[in-house]
Amino acid sequence: VTGPVSLLDAAVGRHLDALCEIGNRFVGTRGEAQAREYVLACLRQCGLERVHTEPVTVRGYAAGDAACELPAWSLTLAADGFQGTAVGEVQAEAVFLGGGQSAAEILAHESRLPSLRGRIAVFQSYWPWEVTAQLAERGVAGVVLISELPDDRIAALPAGWYGDLRGGEVLPYPGVVVGAGSARGLLSALAAGETSVRLRHDASYPRVETANLLGEVPGDERGEHVVVAAHYDTFRVGDGAHDNASGLAGLLAFADALAAGTVARTRRTLQFASFAAEELGLCGAREYCRANAASLSSCAAMVNLDAIAWQVSGRRCLVVSADLEEYATERLRADGWAPELIMDGRTAGSDMAPFVAAGVPSAWCWLHPPQHVYFASEGDTRELVDVKLVSRTAEAACGLAVALANEPRR
Ligand SMILES: [Zn+2]
Repeated sequence: VTGPVSLLDAAVGRHLDALCEIGNRFVGTRGEAQAREYVLACLRQCGLERVHTEPVTVRGYAAGDAACELPAWSLTLAADGFQGTAVGEVQAEAVFLGGGQSAAEILAHESRLPSLRGRIAVFQSYWPWEVTAQLAERGVAGVVLISELPDDRIAALPAGWYGDLRGGEVLPYPGVVVGAGSARGLLSALAAGETSVRLRHDASYPRVETANLLGEVPGDERGEHVVVAAHYDTFRVGDGAHDNASGLAGLLAFADALAAGTVARTRRTLQFASFAAEELGLCGAREYCRANAASLSSCAAMVNLDAIAWQVSGRRCLVVSADLEEYATERLRADGWAPELIMDGRTAGSDMAPFVAAGVPSAWCWLHPPQHVYFASEGDTRELVDVKLVSRTAEAACGLAVALANEPRR
């Protein structure tokens, strides 16, 4: 009974359309509340048991004005607030670090550059949170993040995992984000030796009450369970078609398939989870692991669906905890989704990370790289998502969840 899971493209497409029609689902917005209602209604319609919510309190983000200027060149760049940095204004000498997708890459030339202490660090990255804490340790006065996106788009990325009220803190320096096109003027000025930059970040960090969404398909043998999860929030802008309507549509289509009887009942209980506030710092998943710590010992595995596919077919990437790597790789290969790239689940910037930290074998299947061309921006639209790619990736992930739910005790 561990055969592959097959999902209806029509079901995946219907959920994708519905979620994208809601639009932006950033924590604390109307769209987020609508998404919550939609997911709960779907889980109930599919006849899941114990459909319920669990509260999550987070530090949200309400954007205000942002500015980035080179007074000596009378240059003003279109700028957005860098979510997760301090509110404030600063003028200081700026240093261009270069860029990259890890702290090592971004700081690679640091020893040849002026000290960052008291200066504004300028760098380009998809994943700025990899380096922002290290910049705080170096005592930067501020940060200008240059987006990687084409068309001068500004990505609405957080500077760090600040949203968790139990730990994450707002960074001590103000930051702004600018588009790659308009940043060229800034880089010209820096190359010419004109380094005095002024930046301003206005925003507030309101307390927001949100919730994790849960439901179960009970197994034939009670006791252990497998969590299969997809977060329902988005970044601050955009419809989040890829991140994460794609994963959530896959999860809901899986519930449809179980309701329709096209997937046989499993031995272990399948617990469906749609976590809140992933984009603020995996807040919903962290809170789930904290509030359910006692029952995590009976959690046999966690399977994560996050930004699983868009229009460009990327590499089949398996992010996995060491204790599940061999099994998941073999299982996925047998189901026709042989991983081409394997990443360490401990460092995953997604909801599986708190489960891995709690010792739960965990896996996440997605097509990556390439990164979505308009990652975390208004360009993450329904038109740039291929339903078939989403369906096939979700089938691999859900097939793995079913296999794990049927496996004799591992
Ligand atoms: Zn995501």
